[in-house]
Amino acid sequence: MTKFLKCLSVHSKKMTIPVYTPSNSSYTSVLQLPIKDLRFLNATTPKPKFIITPVHESHVQAAVICCRKHGLQIRVRSGGHDFEGLSYTSHVPFVLVDIADLKSININLKDGSAWVGAGATVGQLLYKIAEKSQGHGFPAGLCATVGVGGHFSGGAYGNLNRKYGLSADNIIDATIVNVNGKILNRKTMGENLFWAIRGGGGASFGVILSWKIKLVPVPPTVTVFRLLRTIEQGVTDLVYKWQYIANKFPEDLH
Ligand SMILES: Cc1cc2nc3c(=O)[nH]c(=O)nc-3n(C[C@H](O)[C@H](O)[C@H](O)COP(=O)(O)OP(=O)(O)OC[C@H]3O[C@@H](n4cnc5c(N)ncnc54)[C@H](O)[C@@H]3O)c2cc1C
Repeated sequence: MTKFLKCLSVHSKKMTIPVYTPSNSSYTSVLQLPIKDLRFLNATTPKPKFIITPVHESHVQAAVICCRKHGLQIRVRSGGHDFEGLSYTSHVPFVLVDIADLKSININLKDGSAWVGAGATVGQLLYKIAEKSQGHGFPAGLCATVGVGGHFSGGAYGNLNRKYGLSADNIIDATIVNVNGKILNRKTMGENLFWAIRGGGGASFGVILSWKIKLVPVPPTVTVFRLLRTIEQGVTDLVYKWQYIANKFPEDLH
């Protein structure tokens, strides 16, 4: 345990790495607060030996290097929405790297792009974009608390998908810490890996630090309506017909 902690401090370039062990009074709340699937909020769920909450990218590098050196698996967590708890539990000894604090968002309206820390949530991203411009948006999911780390790396669908595709279709660069603790961007990771992390799940390949996204044009006002139909009122026919006509509507309709 001491050796692992020492390793972390040796490899951290800036600031002290925030680390929690089970004996720390905040351990349980840091572990459980982002967990969205209540099945995993119980005593029998395997818990991490350490929780690391990086506030600098070198902390992620240190976590990767030291976990590898000490034979510990890493679970990476961004928004904690994983349906199977893959971001915070494991059946082998593991360390949880929770990157929720790496959430800076820098929007560049000049070229219509933004760099988003992988720890940001969809809600934080869309809010920031809306603060800067009423004419820009981004195709992402419907749930504001989903983290872009897991969300974008799985593709990510939402209300703008018909017009603009998945989030993954609108990602133009990314930074990732690879298995050797090196930070790579699109150019240095190569097009194959860049393709894989946009749909293949980020944690299979490394720890994503940030995404560069292409913003899309949106009107300042959208109209939302809801049609409720029961089976008795013919909802089955409606859905059946919808499949044949949906593609003929303008792409502004979702
Ligand atoms: C309530 C709810 C609503 C949802 N709504 C939508 C929706 O509208 N559209 C949609 O497409 N999906 C939706 N999803 C699915 C969601 O996109 C996925 O579960 C996604 O993986 C969650 O990402 P996260 O970062 O919040 O979760 P996490 O649990 O943190 O991570 C999910 C997976 O990604 C990995 N991961 C997380 N961060 C990183 C990182 N930085 N680097 C590498 N790997 C990482 C984790 O290890 C884990 O395997 C929803 C899920 C829930 C629970």
